[in-house]
Amino acid sequence: MNYKWFIGGGVVLLLGVYFLYNPAGNPLFPKCPFLQLTQLRCPGCGSQRALHQLLHFNFLEAFRYNALLVSSIPVLSLLYAAQLLCNKYPRFYNKIYSPILIWCLLAIIVFWWLLRNLFGW
Ligand SMILES: [Zn+2]
Repeated sequence: MNYKWFIGGGVVLLLGVYFLYNPAGNPLFPKCPFLQLTQLRCPGCGSQRALHQLLHFNFLEAFRYNALLVSSIPVLSLLYAAQLLCNKYPRFYNKIYSPILIWCLLAIIVFWWLLRNLFGW
C-alpha cells in the first residue's frame, strides 16, 4: 500500500475527531507548547479550533482562530494533490515543489507569525 494513501486515511480520521469534538476548552486536546513556554502565539495557534469550525462551515469563526490556516487550504490541497499524482505528472510535481514556492511559503509563515504577535491576531 502506498504511504500517501495511508497519510490520507490518517487525515480523514483526524478530521472526524475534530468534527465530533470541539477543542475549545477541551482538556483532551494538546495545548501549544510554544504558547505555554513563551506566551507568544506560534503560526499554528488556533488551528485545532479553526479546523473544528471549518468542519461545521463556520468560516468566519475559523478565520478568526487562524487566518493563515483557512487561507492556505487551497495551497495545501494543491501540495497534497501534487504528491498523490507525482508519478503520473512529474512536471506538475516539480513545478509545485519548486524551491521558490517553498521559500515563499516559509516567508509567509514567518511574516504571519510576526504579525499575529505584534497585532494580536
Ligand atoms: Zn501555537
